Amino acid sequence: GYIGLEVAASLTKAGKMVTVIEAAPRLLARVASPPVSAFFATRHGDAGVDIITGAAMSEIRHDNGGFVGATLEDGRQIDADMLVVGIGVAPNTDLAAQADLAIANGIVTDGTMRTSRPDIYAIGDGAFDGSGAYGLRIESVHNAQEQAERAAASITGNDVPRRQVPWFWSDQYDVKLQSAGVLPANNTDLHHVQRAGRREGGFSVWSFADDDLVAVEAIGDPAAYVLGKTCLESGRAPRPVQLADAGFDLKSFVADKPVA
Ligand SMILES: Cc1cc2nc3c(=O)[nH]c(=O)nc-3n(C[C@H](O)[C@H](O)[C@H](O)COP(=O)(O)OP(=O)(O)OC[C@H]3O[C@@H](n4cnc5c(N)ncnc54)[C@H](O)[C@@H]3O)c2cc1C
Repeated sequence: GYIGLEVAASLTKAGKMVTVIEAAPRLLARVASPPVSAFFATRHGDAGVDIITGAAMSEIRHDNGGFVGATLEDGRQIDADMLVVGIGVAPNTDLAAQADLAIANGIVTDGTMRTSRPDIYAIGDGAFDGSGAYGLRIESVHNAQEQAERAAASITGNDVPRRQVPWFWSDQYDVKLQSAGVLPANNTDLHHVQRAGRREGGFSVWSFADDDLVAVEAIGDPAAYVLGKTCLESGRAPRPVQLADAGFDLKSFVADKPVA
């Protein structure tokens, strides 16, 4: 995942030799489009990181109480001095269950972040707002802040702000990824369009479910990120064939000017 890759980048920059072991068939399979996964696999490979995908770890090996390496399910042995486990989290809903709150992949809320008991609200990583278009439990700083605003508005009797498009970033080496929207997990029917950015090496990936834009990922291309986020927020996006055309004036399209 992103955290594991960020650690891999930082340790590599600090002069360490790093092996990434990923159970899924590609890096970032749960959260990124295939072109973005491929980009990061190449970037880490170029930096000297050994990436092993589709491989689960079966044993953590110790010698005299100290970590010495890992064994993979296929029998491969990776010797190492340090192990970083970055395998995600599961919400701890024990307290919510004691309070008889509805639970389903987190504490269930409505769009105002109110739980099944009207005098209890839930926000952040542990809250599952099933009412929105996304119907997901999202773990990000922006999500926690946005849900806090909605809960505060509801508690104080003010208008609850409109739901924002989720966004996220990740810094690895000299690369900044910015993404807006959500890539539905395990959705292999998405259509991805890659667009070169103005900066050297920069590009963006626009993902569509049928004709609906669902996510924009920008690597070293902040302009595409801003334009993509605007498209997702307005519900007005270019068609895949337009985006695939390098000469298409995306900026004018988003500004709603006639496109040449
Ligand atoms: C290593 C790492 C890197 C990350 N990087 C990014 C990133 O680059 N971008 C991004 O958007 N997100 C990132 N995230 C995710 C982001 O940190 C979380 O989504 C965000 O902090 C969620 O906010 P929260 O308030 O729900 O939970 P938290 O920030 O975890 O705060 C919950 C607080 O509740 C306290 N608490 C727990 N139980 C109790 C209790 N029973 N009573 C009282 N207090 C309690 C905890 O001690 C904690 O202080 C990262 C997360 C990790 C772990």
